[in-house]
Amino acid sequence: MLTLGRLLAAILATLCAGKTSAVTKGDSSPMRKTMELAHESTISSSHSESSKPRLKVGVRVLTKGEAIFVGSAEFGIELHSPRAREIVNHLNGLQTNSEISALLAVDIKQVEEVISQLDKEHLVDTHSSTLEIHSRFHSHSRNGATHQNDLAFDGAYLQIQSKLIPELSFTTWLKDVRDGGVSHIGSRRDIDLQIIGDNRIASLLFGIMLSSGVSHTTLHSSHVRIETQDICAGYFRASDIGLSLNARAEELSRELSLFPLPQKISKNEEILPTRSLRVVLGKVPADQLQEWMSQGIPHLIIEDPDGASINIGPLVIPGSGPCLRCVRITREEGDLIWREIEWQRAFAQSLETPVAVAHSVAGTVALELLRFIDTGQSTLIGSMAHINYHSPCNTEHRNFSQHPACGCNW
Ligand SMILES: [Zn+2]
Repeated sequence: MLTLGRLLAAILATLCAGKTSAVTKGDSSPMRKTMELAHESTISSSHSESSKPRLKVGVRVLTKGEAIFVGSAEFGIELHSPRAREIVNHLNGLQTNSEISALLAVDIKQVEEVISQLDKEHLVDTHSSTLEIHSRFHSHSRNGATHQNDLAFDGAYLQIQSKLIPELSFTTWLKDVRDGGVSHIGSRRDIDLQIIGDNRIASLLFGIMLSSGVSHTTLHSSHVRIETQDICAGYFRASDIGLSLNARAEELSRELSLFPLPQKISKNEEILPTRSLRVVLGKVPADQLQEWMSQGIPHLIIEDPDGASINIGPLVIPGSGPCLRCVRITREEGDLIWREIEWQRAFAQSLETPVAVAHSVAGTVALELLRFIDTGQSTLIGSMAHINYHSPCNTEHRNFSQHPACGCNW
């Protein structure tokens, strides 16, 4: 095990001060590293000795008369404490409360008060979390101090660091997150995500989820070979046409994964996921649907396109909310012609989506899936989003509830 301590501090320094630095601690082992991505404390933090608070990514500090404004265009607070600006300027994840207090010769209570006010508005991170990752490379350094320098210039290390920062800007703003979003990103590896489908949206979603840290993402297609229509400014290239889809997807998973995957051993030997999630594009495999329902595996459906439109959802949580049968019964009741259309679509060849639609839908679905993975919440739970190709920003939602004739809630 190779331990990369305080990468968090390094990332924080990058975020807050534009620096790139890395500090290492611990032993060295070839397979894994631990990336510590938040500083060391809790928010009771404002009262903890080792807390190194920092403003969240994107928080702005503006002068407003005698006071300062801390926040964003959407929300923020005014601080009227006479030393507030100086204190806030030192919330960069590099100093503890007492260090800030000593540095500025300000009473510690005043420092804690400012941090407490910012924490109440969810503008500051105060916890620490660590990430354990597989190493793409073998470090030969045995000396801790030397190793720190090695890491500062290590391409793979810096690459991971730079790829993590944008992902953290998603998770750090989730409710009750105080560690910069680090533990949420790390937990994305705990999901076994299978994407089942043959279309462009499936392959785009596959790449996006891997790049977002969902390392155990696999693509399941009935196509054996990569075909011309798979090329859509996405992850497959013209030179891939005719190649084995499974083999290329395996290669891509190593290229795209946010967290390095081991080169030679099975991916499953890394960290075994304990949670499962399925995404189906197009026709839903009835046998697997039954299995997911009985095993309690959440599944999201993205229907084949219907004219110049496409339906996303619902995300089914077995045992809670409507299942696909509930949705089907409700739709049949609401529109007599729907059953016949559905019957025809079941046997018709699937329509491929335009490139722009594929990217838009894959991006939207990826955001909903990440939110669900990170928080257990999603707008698509029990709800279907209808996207018109010609008016993509005006998404319509249709909500469903469990149907008494279905029986899934017994
Ligand atoms: Zn049902």
